[in-house]
Amino acid sequence: MDPGEGPARAVVAHVGGAEDGGSMTTHARPEADERRLCWCCDNDFPVEDVVHLGAHPEVALCFDCARWVRRRAILRADAGRRGMRVGLRRVVAQMRAAVIGHGWHDRPVIGPVLRWIDRRMP
Ligand SMILES: [Zn+2]
Repeated sequence: MDPGEGPARAVVAHVGGAEDGGSMTTHARPEADERRLCWCCDNDFPVEDVVHLGAHPEVALCFDCARWVRRRAILRADAGRRGMRVGLRRVVAQMRAAVIGHGWHDRPVIGPVLRWIDRRMP
């Protein structure tokens, strides 16, 4: 198992049985066509395209929403801090907000380019 996958990648199934008092937990590999609903954007994704919270594996996030949550956490942590890296992250966040505010990320030609760039930005 890839260390980045985490325990929530496996599907937990409860199987009843007479010998063990009627309950047994097994871990099975997810089906190829299994899908999960992102708890952030409410879209569904293949099970291999979502991540789960460690203590709450029932919560699934798509990669874009996980990236968004990470960025929000970093910006919150940066509040009150100073430095070149903090300043750079703030400038990038302001540029991102301006692009989204103008709806440029949804434009037919430049939108995919901007989203590609965004996936590689801090
Ligand atoms: Zn999502």
